[in-house]
Amino acid sequence: MSDFQKFLFEGLPVRGMVVRLTDSWQTLLSRRETALPPEVMNLLGEMSACALLLQGNLKFDGTLILQMAGDGPVKLAVAEARTDLSYRATANVVGPVPRGADLADLLNVHGGGRCAITLDPSDRPAGVQPYQGVVPLNDAEARRFNRLEQAVEHYMKMSEQLDTKIVLAANADGAAGMLIQRMPLEGEGNLEGRYGAERALELEDAFPRIAMKVGTVKPEELLSLPLDQLLHRLFWEEPLRRFDPAEPTFRCTCSRERVGRMLVGLGREEVDSILLERGDVEIACNFCGAPYRFDAVDCAQLFQTEGGVAPPPAELH
Ligand SMILES: [Zn+2]
Repeated sequence: MSDFQKFLFEGLPVRGMVVRLTDSWQTLLSRRETALPPEVMNLLGEMSACALLLQGNLKFDGTLILQMAGDGPVKLAVAEARTDLSYRATANVVGPVPRGADLADLLNVHGGGRCAITLDPSDRPAGVQPYQGVVPLNDAEARRFNRLEQAVEHYMKMSEQLDTKIVLAANADGAAGMLIQRMPLEGEGNLEGRYGAERALELEDAFPRIAMKVGTVKPEELLSLPLDQLLHRLFWEEPLRRFDPAEPTFRCTCSRERVGRMLVGLGREEVDSILLERGDVEIACNFCGAPYRFDAVDCAQLFQTEGGVAPPPAELH
């Protein structure tokens, strides 16, 4: 079972959600052609859980793409989550991964690492670029983010102006995360004048108190404690209200057409040289391993119909 559940705290300006991926995460890993080093696998699991939390939090109709681009052993890692809570993820490892490597060791060896969050609406007109927000892994105050949580919390603070607390964990069996967010209040800046001293204190106190509790979650609890028990252990003193659970699933959106566009993007010369060498072009989807084969006739057709127009650079097949 994979699980996703939203909750809120009755009468307090705090909401949250929890996600746990088990079967779907194992399916995702089993589809890979090559096994990932554990440190990269864990990062990808955390990114998958995080992309689903952000998608659930923004309630956005389309695909949320969490992308980490780096200058270390990981060149690119991507997790996508859609409105129906289907997701996929992949990573491109280009060098040896040190044992126990953290986010900075994987992606920010020379200070060039970036975390980008793209919102691609389902009704985006062709030719219009989707909205993208970027957080450098070395921020303006020269802090260096060692954990994905820090980078994403920073992004949320910058983009939504809301305090957010995120915890993530992953291993070969599962991936999980929890997100807590402070809700905007009417009368912000003068809560005491609006609500009275006692209630104002209660409202102001709620997020830091609940976030502190979330900060006590151990990775093994997040990954394996039954969700009922996990929420009870954390919030038994709080006025917790839970919503109906939903189920995230692994699903790839690759298609022959998209792979074809990618080949056109490579250029005729490149494709012809592959054809000359091997007779046909064989490509496996980076996300799900699905094989795509284009022979000489298919390739000729691609360049004829597409007219050699390259896809946008961010497009992944
Ligand atoms: Zn695929």
